[in-house]
Amino acid sequence: MKAKIKMYLSEFVSNDTVKEELAQAMQSGLFPHALIIDGAKGTGKKTLAGIIAEYCVCLSDDVKPCGKCSGCLKAMHRCHPDIYIADGNVSGSLSIESIRNMRSDAYIMPNEAPKKVYLVIDCDKMLPPAQNALLKVLEEPPADVVFVLTVTSANMMLQTVRSRSRIYTLYPPSPEQAAEYLKNIYPDKNDRELMDAAVLTDGNIGQAIQNFETGSEEAKALADEILTAITEKREYPLLLLTNNLSKSREFAAKVLDCLLDDAGECIRAASGLETNSKAAEIVAERLSVRRICQLAENISDAKNVLKTNVNLNFFGTWLCAVLKDN
Ligand SMILES: [Zn+2]
Repeated sequence: MKAKIKMYLSEFVSNDTVKEELAQAMQSGLFPHALIIDGAKGTGKKTLAGIIAEYCVCLSDDVKPCGKCSGCLKAMHRCHPDIYIADGNVSGSLSIESIRNMRSDAYIMPNEAPKKVYLVIDCDKMLPPAQNALLKVLEEPPADVVFVLTVTSANMMLQTVRSRSRIYTLYPPSPEQAAEYLKNIYPDKNDRELMDAAVLTDGNIGQAIQNFETGSEEAKALADEILTAITEKREYPLLLLTNNLSKSREFAAKVLDCLLDDAGECIRAASGLETNSKAAEIVAERLSVRRICQLAENISDAKNVLKTNVNLNFFGTWLCAVLKDN
């Protein structure tokens, strides 16, 4: 299960230079009025923007964000009246009208926090007129207001907007650091699964989370069908099924993980132990334990092949050839 975790700046993965600069700005009290956080999708731009928002509304006299005061708690529950979010993925939210409304709002004092913060998320599609509307408020920023813009590349913002903002660029962490971080979110997953997810996504935590959260059921269903086709010795249907793995490397990895779990269940069933997989029971009736072990070994090999730069279009055909003899 994915759990919501509370995060402090120090816990943000990797990106030490960005963290040091931000920590210094937070401690000095000379926090920039406008920040652009750029980096590839999944590198934590929104997470970092969230930490900055918490810093802006934190009521602590000590290190901010404290994670404990009413400001931090409201920020965490996304109900703080001084945090405004304009998300580029929501139609119209970065239109020139919306930005003008945001601009007038920025001149009104914060409701209860030391600072008011505007999170302008995913600015990739923000058109120049809207950017120009934003520029007006960046040129003469009201006191106690912070704008945080996230975008995949700062170059998508007008030079005039860039020059009035502090730019922080995020990079994905190493797979090891990513796996370590993922463990906090998915304590139920084992180290191998976490490391595989991190390696497959080159340490892109957002992508790894998305992979964990989507397509699992589809992968499980496909794995069951593949297993049935193997035991029924139906080569052509097996080929059609394994060719579905060409969809994406992540999906293929997920199907192989399910197959490996299934093989484990088959061994349980073949050893007379309880299993909740119907497909495993059928396989156990038809294949010997030795052959199921061979199958598990072949699937493990396939997982290693997938980690190399194998062409996905050939991978399905190759996998079919390897599995059909089990
Ligand atoms: Zn606080």
